[in-house]
Amino acid sequence: MTALTDLGVAALRDGVRDGAFSAREAAEAYVAAVEKARGLNAFVVETPEHALAAADAADAARANGALKPLSGVPLGIKDLFCTEGVQSTAGSRILEGFRPNYESTVSAKLFEAGAGMLGKLNMDEFAMGSSNETSGYGAVISPWKRNDGGNAPLAPGGSSGGSAAAVAARIAPGATGTDTGGSIRQPAAFVGISGIKPTYGRCSRWGIVAFASSLDQAGPMARDVRDCAILLEAMSGFDPKDSTSLDLPVPKWEANLSADIKGKRVGIPKEYRIDGVPEEIGRVWDRGIDWLEDAGAEIVEVSLPHTKYALPTYYIIAPAEASSNLARYDGVRYGLRVQPDQGGLQDMYEATRAAGFGPEVKRRIMIGTYVLSAGFYDAYFNRAQKVRALIARDFERVWESCDLLLTPTAPSAAFALGEKSADPIAMYLNDVFAVPASLAGLPAMSVPAGLDGQGLPLGLQIVGKALDEQNVLNAGLAIEERAGFTARPEAWW
Ligand code: GLN
Repeated sequence: MTALTDLGVAALRDGVRDGAFSAREAAEAYVAAVEKARGLNAFVVETPEHALAAADAADAARANGALKPLSGVPLGIKDLFCTEGVQSTAGSRILEGFRPNYESTVSAKLFEAGAGMLGKLNMDEFAMGSSNETSGYGAVISPWKRNDGGNAPLAPGGSSGGSAAAVAARIAPGATGTDTGGSIRQPAAFVGISGIKPTYGRCSRWGIVAFASSLDQAGPMARDVRDCAILLEAMSGFDPKDSTSLDLPVPKWEANLSADIKGKRVGIPKEYRIDGVPEEIGRVWDRGIDWLEDAGAEIVEVSLPHTKYALPTYYIIAPAEASSNLARYDGVRYGLRVQPDQGGLQDMYEATRAAGFGPEVKRRIMIGTYVLSAGFYDAYFNRAQKVRALIARDFERVWESCDLLLTPTAPSAAFALGEKSADPIAMYLNDVFAVPASLAGLPAMSVPAGLDGQGLPLGLQIVGKALDEQNVLNAGLAIEERAGFTARPEAWW
């Protein structure tokens, strides 16, 4: 018999509906799996009581014929989402002990749809990172290992590293992530799962701890494309509490899921063939091109001429917004307060921020403050805003000749913990393929496409037009069906 933890979102929902097992049994299986896998450090807080209560409600709903779209599905929630009464730290020590008295819109929507919460998932501090190593609560360890016999613990990617590890290790059927410049897609690629960042504005940012507000988007991470579609449907929708929320109906992504992409033109951006990327990445990309062609797509070479400016632009805009957003952590309003024996309010601010923020967050605050300063605003922030507009225009032009883009998700497979943490630029380079779609606010998804020579997952990215998540998901499904990716990490934890 398959273990209940082998079942993903759709299978749990359907199994509970069909009476194959109870929601309580499923939640108990997942709660036990979470406890057993503590060595991965994927969860910073476990909330079995929440998952079990939602499961009991699901079983009662079934008895009353009142099942909801996510009845029977326990989820992991990234710790960037404020959860009522449950510690929400954004991976930072400065928010240790912060228990919001409100629920983020996205988590509230998931719970209203019947889902339960297994716990809060570890992440890079304030979502700044690509390896989960900047977390104030310790790195997450990827469930994957290289097949070279070496035992080097690997990074699960970041910043949604806890979400990625939990889904890949099958201790959660699905999880929420957030993506500012790749934090759903890159970790999904590193651990062999699927994840989608929707169009900016699809998911409300209300109650999500802000990193870079013009880029931040929530999205699901799950074992396959269908599960992503189901979760995204529950997470999306207009919210008057977020001024950038899109006032549009939520499409029926799951019902309209189809791997038939006949006639769709898929663009292959030539600027994404960059030097120094391992050949295996190029080979997986070529296979992806063949798969989409096989699914009926027409492949066209396209150009996004400003691609090379995307990373520097992102690393001006994101820190600038972050430096402003993080000003609120002053020791007065939330979490940590460090009051030096001597001194006044200013000294308290300084001591709190010095103790509460980690080195990467401090680096971003300094960069952001610098690029926004009176003397450098025009040279950096203003210039970056203009380049961002050019990058967005590149995409608008490209949609004249294609409907979707296919690229690798990340320029490498997962690296070992510690391998890049001393070199911020090497770490930032990880986002090279993910950041352009973020700057343009476009929907983008990563799906697993194969393994590299060391037995580690590689992902392919599909980018779509604004609001065209359906075709992104459909192309993702076409790849999923052809890639036949069934590899999973051996349970050593
Ligand atoms: N790795 C990128 C950064 O460190 C993206 C993070 C994210 O998307 N939250 O900023």
